[in-house]
Amino acid sequence: MNDLFFTEEHTMLVDMVRDFAKNEIEPIAQELDAKGRFPEELVAKMADLGLMGIPIPEEYGGAGMDITAFAAVVMELAKADASVAITLAAHISLGTMPILMSGSEQLKERYLAKLASGKMLGAFGLTEPEAGSDAGATKTTAVKDGEDYIINGGKIFITNVGYAGVLNLTARVEDDGEFLGIGAFTVATDTPGLKIGPPEKKMGWKASDTRQLFFEDMRVSKDCLLSEPGTGFKTFLKTLTGGRISIAALSVGTAEGAYQKALAYSDERTAFGKKIHEFQAVSFKLADMATQIEAAKLLTYHAAWLRDKGRNVVKAAAMAKLFASETAMKVTTEAIQVLGGYGYVKEYDVERFFRDAKILEIGEGTSEVQRIIISREIIQSLQKF
Ligand SMILES: Cc1cc2nc3c(=O)[nH]c(=O)nc-3n(C[C@H](O)[C@H](O)[C@H](O)COP(=O)(O)OP(=O)(O)OC[C@H]3O[C@@H](n4cnc5c(N)ncnc54)[C@H](O)[C@@H]3O)c2cc1C
Repeated sequence: MNDLFFTEEHTMLVDMVRDFAKNEIEPIAQELDAKGRFPEELVAKMADLGLMGIPIPEEYGGAGMDITAFAAVVMELAKADASVAITLAAHISLGTMPILMSGSEQLKERYLAKLASGKMLGAFGLTEPEAGSDAGATKTTAVKDGEDYIINGGKIFITNVGYAGVLNLTARVEDDGEFLGIGAFTVATDTPGLKIGPPEKKMGWKASDTRQLFFEDMRVSKDCLLSEPGTGFKTFLKTLTGGRISIAALSVGTAEGAYQKALAYSDERTAFGKKIHEFQAVSFKLADMATQIEAAKLLTYHAAWLRDKGRNVVKAAAMAKLFASETAMKVTTEAIQVLGGYGYVKEYDVERFFRDAKILEIGEGTSEVQRIIISREIIQSLQKF
């Protein structure tokens, strides 16, 4: 299938990332998971390989590759460790892309080269305690004070932020008591008034950094404005649409990582004098897993291809994210079943893939939200006729 979407450059990139994942990530994936340790050394190595700015244009210090390349990198990383994959995916699609897509030349100059080289990590703060799926219900405020804004409020579940140098955030912009709309800001994480909480203790993605944020009279100048009041929310929704392609890729990688372990195990394990894949009950599971992964991969690369062609990807990205994340949950569940009791213990890795899969149905829009987006798109297209 890669022949459909890949150039020679994509194939070389994937080979390089696969080697990196095998030699550098796989040997420490269990330790990272067990300790919940953020893999700073792997981030530095990915930066050395030029992966932290894969789809960022060369003029801003990136590799100048496309979204297909970005999806392929995330997929390969996730086959080894989803935490490493989300660290890179969130840094690029949530931390860097909004600045590339909507930032002023000043913001681009200030941050893009550092982000694309991996010298700085990026984060994205949309979710709040009372604004998740209903992200427009944000309560964080940015009150105009002369040329500055004073930001108060907070965000929750923010990926990478404990290690990030820059944060994109949304806030309700107010001027003299008047609500002007939701705006977006790009701020340095060492801005006085920005407080970062301890890492969350999670079910999976244990080596990924997730934290709560508090803004206490955080004063930022108007050049931190990423999107004017009224357009900030749209900027973030556009960011999430693109981000969904990377979560779909992460889902395919997570599913494939678990499937490969199950396939290999089915060839080693014997029961009743046979390899277990000689039982149709097991081989049919493997057939279903392989088919679901192939379908999820096609949807993901198709969405990436559409994006690379500059087409509207709202429906395609939501479909890819929905199907691939639900595939990751199904495939990792079945992988445990194929391994029996060994699937339930940490040594064989599939329980890690299973724990890492669940968040894929939640982050960057839950499965329910994806269904809302897809149904809205198909019903709108019906009304055109
Ligand atoms: C590990 C992790 C990392 C994250 N990283 C980030 C990050 O970097 N930046 C960031 O901003 N956020 C991040 N998030 C937040 C994530 O995007 C939200 O958790 C997610 O969007 C869901 O929001 P919620 O948790 O408030 O759930 P809710 O919106 O409260 O949803 C609860 C349930 O209600 C359902 N529901 C809600 N509204 C509807 C509706 N209209 N129709 C049908 N069902 C509905 C949901 O689908 C869900 O099943 C992260 C979360 C986690 C756990």
